[in-house]
Amino acid sequence: MNAVHAAMPSDDKKPRGAGSEPDLVELVASAEVIPLSPGLESFEPEPEDETPLYEARRKIYPQSVRGTYRRIKWIVLAVTLGIYYLLPFVRWDRGPGAPSQAVLLDLPARRFYFFFVEIWPQEIYYVTGLLILAAMVLFLMNAVAGRVWCGYLCPQTVWTDLFQAVERLTEGDRREHVLRERGPWTLNRVARTGAKHVIWLMIAWWTGGAWVLYFSDAPTLVRELATGQAPLIAYGWIGILTFTTYALAGHMREQVCLYMCPWPRIQAALTDEYALNVTYRFDRGEPRNSVKKSVALRQQGLPSGDCIDCLQCVYVCPTGVDIRNGPNLGCIQCGLCIDACDTVMAKIGRPPRLIAYDTDVNIKRRTEGKAPFVRIVRWRTALYAAIIVAVGAVMLYTLATRQSIGVNVLHDRNPLFVRMHDGAIRNAYTVRVLNKTGGSREFWLTVDGLDGSFVDIAGEPSRMDGNNMIEVGPDQTREVRVLVTDYSQRESSVPITFVITDRMSRNTAAVSDYFRGP
Ligand code: SF4
Ligand code: SF4
Repeated sequence: MNAVHAAMPSDDKKPRGAGSEPDLVELVASAEVIPLSPGLESFEPEPEDETPLYEARRKIYPQSVRGTYRRIKWIVLAVTLGIYYLLPFVRWDRGPGAPSQAVLLDLPARRFYFFFVEIWPQEIYYVTGLLILAAMVLFLMNAVAGRVWCGYLCPQTVWTDLFQAVERLTEGDRREHVLRERGPWTLNRVARTGAKHVIWLMIAWWTGGAWVLYFSDAPTLVRELATGQAPLIAYGWIGILTFTTYALAGHMREQVCLYMCPWPRIQAALTDEYALNVTYRFDRGEPRNSVKKSVALRQQGLPSGDCIDCLQCVYVCPTGVDIRNGPNLGCIQCGLCIDACDTVMAKIGRPPRLIAYDTDVNIKRRTEGKAPFVRIVRWRTALYAAIIVAVGAVMLYTLATRQSIGVNVLHDRNPLFVRMHDGAIRNAYTVRVLNKTGGSREFWLTVDGLDGSFVDIAGEPSRMDGNNMIEVGPDQTREVRVLVTDYSQRESSVPITFVITDRMSRNTAAVSDYFRGP
């Protein structure tokens, strides 16, 4: 096919003069036919993309299902929610004066308690270590079994699952629910819908309530909440979390996974062809036919797959995905379509796992008539596991050898040093001493590396013998201003070390700094 290109008329054909612009008729008349370059003869313009920029939400009514993965999901739901709601009430004896809540984020005291571990603000690196561990565990899960986090453990999945269970309880299973929603508003429908929202709100309220219990002594706060004596901020946070839980798990559901969460995009970039993902085995399922037609075709020796196009796998899907269309960002890999299809296969007497956890490699191998295999140990999984072990080991070691005392120092910046009337040089520091035990302790403060110097703690009696003593209360820090005076007339900066020694146990902690000179 040739294309007609309208060429501009050449200068000699163009009328000159004001008001004599070539009109459209002239332009068309002077158009030349230019043959297309070889190879482009069959060029057809691309049809315009008719996909709308915004697709209205299609309401999903997931059907109930039974099977192995559904059971696993119920167990995970019970365990994770059980931990979340009950953990604030677990007690842990830390001795007199210390909070007895096993897991507590004590913001006023700036402490995080996790059973036997007590994290101070100075030890924020433990949180960094935990974040690295969490990321690596997520990567490892993804490399082994795709979005197993999304399908089973993500709070959005767990609470949505719970809210959908309530919905089925009050409004009936998929078919009943759809039919009722298509019908008029009867008293029965109002009562069922009302009950659903009341239960949803109660769960959402308790979710917010449990959250604030992690920030204060749980039994005390529950009493205060019940009697209206809790701090205003507690009610505020409960309100915010009640709203977010109700909105995200009750109304937005799969929309969160599809549009709000970044993990599906990140996960897609991290996965490989050996990762186990929920897969429709199209090599076995296609071509799809009804049971009757399939039997007839097979009797004639014609091909017919195991899929009977019953759509049960789509009906149970919480995100409305048809897994038979291949990998989909909306698939959270929950495995419920496996259970649905297995049930169908059992009913029609065909082998299970037409939909199964499988790898891209295996799909290819099956089509080539080769035996499938699963390879969990690969360089990627080994690397993630090694990082988890290394970071975990470092964290455990530092926790096991963690000291119950600590010292930080901050050198005065302005001025860095002062020359005294007798020629001596004086530097000033702010020294913070940490006592991480439940009893009061006394510490000697000494400065190493500056022979002949005099150390004085502002506000404390001067000790010419150098035995400067600092008393720190139980589980507290104390800041003191320390003046170090050097009489040796040296003209340069020297490294020095502040050392604190527990008077009773003789345990020491040290921190380095500099003594600045002219
Ligand atoms: S397609 Fe299957 S595995 Fe994926 S979300 Fe739907 S039910 Fe779950
Ligand atoms: S449940 Fe199984 S048989 Fe039914 S449509 Fe899905 S894949 Fe096909």
